[in-house]
Amino acid sequence: MIRTGIGIDVHRFTPGVQMWVAGLHFPDEQLGLAGHSDGDVVCHAICDALLSAARLGDMGSNYGTSEPEWAGASGIAFLAETRRRLETAGWRIVNVAVQLIGDRPRMAAYRAEAEALLATTLGADVGLSATTTDHLGFTGRGEGLAAIATALVEQA
Ligand SMILES: [Zn+2]
Repeated sequence: MIRTGIGIDVHRFTPGVQMWVAGLHFPDEQLGLAGHSDGDVVCHAICDALLSAARLGDMGSNYGTSEPEWAGASGIAFLAETRRRLETAGWRIVNVAVQLIGDRPRMAAYRAEAEALLATTLGADVGLSATTTDHLGFTGRGEGLAAIATALVEQA
């Protein structure tokens, strides 16, 4: 049996916070992403897509604010734990596609590095793309970032 899943995540830009996207640190960015954790929208959207595909709930039900051990956790830590939960439930990740939506940071120069890190963490192929919204909406106004992901899993 194979299944697809989908996930979306959004975080607001905030001063005084480090920018982490797709598991990578962007120290030159003036703003970071606010959230219960590090606000890494790419990793969080992937987690939701994986949990969706395996019918294991979502990030809120797995790592909610009632679980303080996940406060401040990195996006990569969430991905590694989500992979573990899928494998425990008998699922293998086939591949993931994720798209970052927003103007900053510019991902083109870091795409290969991000894909390699995400793929190593998940033990599966990961494709990362990025787009902008023609200055429309919260991403176009530079208020935050969004990401959308799909995942394919199969019973191990
Ligand atoms: Zn998030």
